[in-house]
Amino acid sequence: MTDPAEKDNLTLDPATAPVVATVGIRKSFGGVEVLKGIDLEASGGSVVALLGENGAGKSTLVKIIVGDYTPSAGSIVVDGVAHSALTPVESRAAGISMIAQEFNDAPTLSVAENISLGRIPHRYGVVNWREVDRRAREVLSSLEAHVDIGADVSSLTVGERQFVEIARAMSNDARVLILDEPTAALSHHEAEVLFSRIRRLRDQGKAIIYITHRLDEVFAISDRVHVLRDGDTALQADTDAVDRDQLVGAMVGRYDLGKGRPAMSEVPVGEVALRWQGASSHRQFSDIDIEVRRGEVVALYGKLGSGALEVGRSAFGLEPIDAGSLEVGGEVVDLTNPVDAVALGIGFLSEDRKVGGAFSSRPVGENVAVASWPRLATAGLLTADVEQNALDRWFDRLAIRSSGKSGQPMEELSGGNQQKVLVARWLERHANALVLLEPTRGVDVGARADLYGVLRQLASEGAAIMIVTSDYEEVVAVADRSYVIAKGRTTAELEGDDITMNALLAHAGG
Ligand code: ADP
Ligand code: MG
Repeated sequence: MTDPAEKDNLTLDPATAPVVATVGIRKSFGGVEVLKGIDLEASGGSVVALLGENGAGKSTLVKIIVGDYTPSAGSIVVDGVAHSALTPVESRAAGISMIAQEFNDAPTLSVAENISLGRIPHRYGVVNWREVDRRAREVLSSLEAHVDIGADVSSLTVGERQFVEIARAMSNDARVLILDEPTAALSHHEAEVLFSRIRRLRDQGKAIIYITHRLDEVFAISDRVHVLRDGDTALQADTDAVDRDQLVGAMVGRYDLGKGRPAMSEVPVGEVALRWQGASSHRQFSDIDIEVRRGEVVALYGKLGSGALEVGRSAFGLEPIDAGSLEVGGEVVDLTNPVDAVALGIGFLSEDRKVGGAFSSRPVGENVAVASWPRLATAGLLTADVEQNALDRWFDRLAIRSSGKSGQPMEELSGGNQQKVLVARWLERHANALVLLEPTRGVDVGARADLYGVLRQLASEGAAIMIVTSDYEEVVAVADRSYVIAKGRTTAELEGDDITMNALLAHAGG
């Protein structure tokens, strides 16, 4: 035991003493231990990157810190005082604030209202709007941000919305800011802006816990790194003291991503599955010429707002083509809805799993079988057996990491595994061409490598695969050929070793 007198003698540097720390935190869900005694420290004036594969326990750990979950054992130490658990109110009162992956904002309210959300100043039931505006102006100017405080949050970009959430946290006098994969939906530029803001907050003495799966971000932003693997701490170090390979090794152990581009498929490219010729869509893209053949993975790379996503969406009848043409399997088609696209053998993954296709509260097996319902249903129903068989057909091939039971709810799977289930859905439907928008958004490094392996394997077996992405690393990692889209136009076609980060960025525009 520490003698209290001795404790008094400790000279803690207030700038570097942990503001919040977890000590021996354990957490079990339904008898499964997902955190096995974690000691994480966040100190003022420093950024700790919390890294780990999906399912490693990162979100669970920070949810314990913000009071969403109660730990099974261990304690949370705030300013030197140990607590066996915190309530959300206690955590907030201690100055801890989290920017979750899903926005907590109110899109129909203004920026100013969002910044005061939950503590709108009022007197006798009358809101003090002047104070709402003053607070917003004050915090935004302290963050050197130029955001119209009267604008509806729904009119903002993802980056700006996230920033309003940070402003709200700061307006609440947060001392500890937790960000859960904050750049998943940001453009390169927006991510840079976010980083500079995080650095500024760090320099103001805030403690930052930054969850990410992107290694380049670890090096760009963090002072310390804490890697979780399967609920255990796999590595803790000063960021300066580690390299990429060590981080990957700690996170996933089993992958070697250091070796660069994977071997490309040996199968000669086959017939054209999808072809856009001089295709234009009102205001979204124009004069697009793109081909996707069987046996290849083609990436359409463009920054957010480039029009690349809309080109991808046009393959699924979600974006009208009003000049030029789209061919599917050599036939010019006029796709105006997804039903026709499915009938033509096109499989599609939207950039937003929740909106675009994953039925998250429904069983995994149903998610696989649902598009093949006409073929698989008996008397209009998908039986549990049929769903289990459908899942079994793809489980090993796509390396789906789940319980393997078709009845498991989709939402229990990690993002990467949900993506695999959706790929399985289209394979089960015998799709000829797969169009995947931002397939690894929010998916971390090990699961990404898995998914890339799956796509390459499918292509080598003759599938035509098109991914649309704003992540150049993804293009380099997986594509045989790539088109770059900027301002709605094709600015480059790159192949093989010509697909480099520099070439992609150069053609994608500033
Ligand atoms: P990460 O954020 O690193 O991806 P999580 O903390 O979300 O990981 O999950 C860690 C493990 O805990 C996973 O196996 C996940 O399935 C499980 N888990 C997380 N939340 C719950 C919950 N509410 N109920 C049951 N299991 C959960
Ligand atoms: Mg998480």
